[in-house]
Amino acid sequence: MSDFSRYSRQVVLPEVGVNGQAILRDSTVLLVGLGGLGSLSALYLAGAGVGRLLLCDPDHVTLSNLQRQVIYRSDDLGRNKAEAAAAQLRALNPEVETEVIAADTWPTRLADVDLVLDGSDNFPTRFATNAACVQARVPLAFAAAIRFEGQLGLIDPARRGGCYACLYPETGTAAERCEDAGILGPVVGTMAAQQALLALRRLLGLADDAGTLHTWCARTLQWRAHSLPRDPDCSSCATPP
Ligand SMILES: [Zn+2]
Repeated sequence: MSDFSRYSRQVVLPEVGVNGQAILRDSTVLLVGLGGLGSLSALYLAGAGVGRLLLCDPDHVTLSNLQRQVIYRSDDLGRNKAEAAAAQLRALNPEVETEVIAADTWPTRLADVDLVLDGSDNFPTRFATNAACVQARVPLAFAAAIRFEGQLGLIDPARRGGCYACLYPETGTAAERCEDAGILGPVVGTMAAQQALLALRRLLGLADDAGTLHTWCARTLQWRAHSLPRDPDCSSCATPP
């Protein structure tokens, strides 16, 4: 039996309430990538009581990760990120079920998933995640952060708006990497918190966030919203003739 006081600060919100908390408890979120984005988003989702978190990241914790991937501890150096994250999430909220899944098996699990959170750091994984979510009609919260810039959005294949391949039609582009370009921890942390917020908004039905790309500049602290319409010629989400 859940101790309700754990969630009292969000249950008191009329937009959440007891029913919303039950929705979160019965929800499953798949996190692809547990770096600066996914690992922090996962903490907020576990704290909120999202009942089941599927965790996927083949990488291991390195010393340079700890500056921004603050879910991990120095004792985690060398551990698989999904395994290390699962341990921290269980410590935060034992009511949340965590499952570590292999990178090549997550597409087969989409039928059991209410939402995917993409925290990957490369275009091939982002495009593959987008294509799988579009095909399975599963909502996808994506985000990215580099230097002093961040972006995020929600792709909702069963509803309106474009997908990640509508935004970036060229799949041959190589993503810039934080190890080359640099990043401050709170910049990626801001995106991670917003990404978790998009996930909670979608799970709770609080808003329709599809069709908008949000960008943020960490120099000016300015947010901008851009239309993300569906591209009728998109290689992933265009409806077949
Ligand atoms: Zn598309």
